[in-house]
Amino acid sequence: MTAYYLSEANLDVTVVEKNSILSGITSKLNGKICLNQGIFHETINNYGYKMAKNYYDYTIMAQQEYKRIISELNIDCEFKKEESYLYSITDNEFIKNEKEALESLDKKVYQDENFPLNLNISNHLKIKDDYTIDIFKFLSNLPFKFKIYENACATKIGDEVVINNMYHLTYDKLIVCTNMPPKNSKMVYTKTYASTAYTSLFKGNITNLFLEDKKEGLSIRNFKGNVVLCGLDHDTGYVDDINKFKTLHKHYETMFKKEKSLLNLSNQDVMSLDKMPLVIDDGNVITITAFNKWGLTNSIICAKVTLELINDEKFINPFAINRFKISFKLVRRNIGQLLKGTFNSPKIELLSENNNRARCRHQNALLKYNTNTNQFECTAHGSTYSKDGEVKNGPAI
Ligand SMILES: Cc1cc2nc3c(=O)[nH]c(=O)nc-3n(C[C@H](O)[C@H](O)[C@H](O)COP(=O)(O)OP(=O)(O)OC[C@H]3O[C@@H](n4cnc5c(N)ncnc54)[C@H](O)[C@@H]3O)c2cc1C
Repeated sequence: MTAYYLSEANLDVTVVEKNSILSGITSKLNGKICLNQGIFHETINNYGYKMAKNYYDYTIMAQQEYKRIISELNIDCEFKKEESYLYSITDNEFIKNEKEALESLDKKVYQDENFPLNLNISNHLKIKDDYTIDIFKFLSNLPFKFKIYENACATKIGDEVVINNMYHLTYDKLIVCTNMPPKNSKMVYTKTYASTAYTSLFKGNITNLFLEDKKEGLSIRNFKGNVVLCGLDHDTGYVDDINKFKTLHKHYETMFKKEKSLLNLSNQDVMSLDKMPLVIDDGNVITITAFNKWGLTNSIICAKVTLELINDEKFINPFAINRFKISFKLVRRNIGQLLKGTFNSPKIELLSENNNRARCRHQNALLKYNTNTNQFECTAHGSTYSKDGEVKNGPAI
């Protein structure tokens, strides 16, 4: 999206992509462009009304931008309004507070008697006009007026970008759009953390989007005539003993009926301490990160802000990283995990379930094995590896 916005503004853009364009997680889902993220009460409480209103307005802007682009380019991508629900099994107050927060920000929120899922909930709220989109159809129909280098991995970022350890690219402005930044730009590693979430796909039918409050953080939605259950998040590298996919299957069984899952997968996303995205302006490098699992909304927000930053020197970045302080838990985690063991280059062939000294190629932090996914997870910056040492998710390359 950033490349699209910059090229729409007639800037000369080149995209460097490790695999092929649209091969990442973004293009594999039926996306929701949601206001209903369950964060507004907490944001008002912890960071003030102004910050919450700012994110609220930007989220509405993102929904409007999808509408504008789709209508101008006449893209058929199943973009439509869809009701979204936020519910809690135990915490009546959470929903009440979120409802009040949304209404104070100018959003009409509903609470009808009927909750459409077979769940014993304590409270829920509904927003009538969130949106859904087939993001693959949308992105693959955007006119790419920029150069794309595929199978081009950025292996080093400095005054130049080194591609595949071989080619050097110069730039005026470098925009790093990433799950987890490869560099600790402006102390980003002490203000963000990677989170692992689990997804199971089942045969079935459902309309609307359902989000549970933070307890297990389940989301339930349709995907091409199937039902998708996501959630059970934990900080990457810090999994507990609960069998994640079995738990998701049990939840499905409670709500619908016994059904074998068609697909199980896990993925990483980066979270910021205040659950809003980051646009880190560091001289001639701008890093866009911390999508907090809402990449469809937050990528547009970050793209617009990046364009403003490039075009207008006086523009004040509303998603700058200095808006919150470092977390000492994350500082301790970083230092602790990096110091454990030796600083030799890790030998990936040593990876095995029982090897608790395996280390990440990125900055040598300790790797932990996750039995749900059969992958190794970096305990500092969230990289993941298959059993045979292939990088599944960065910042390791
Ligand atoms: C099941 C599921 C449902 C979701 N539902 C929603 C939803 O409804 N609404 C919503 O807003 N969000 C949703 N999300 C979250 C959303 O998908 C993510 O926030 C978003 O897709 C992340 O975008 P990204 O660009 O960071 O990652 P990606 O799409 O994975 O893109 C990153 C790209 O960077 C490339 N890359 C990585 N390292 C390098 C390198 N060194 N050099 C060159 N290229 C590199 C990768 O190859 C990849 O193509 C969902 C996620 C999941 C898993």
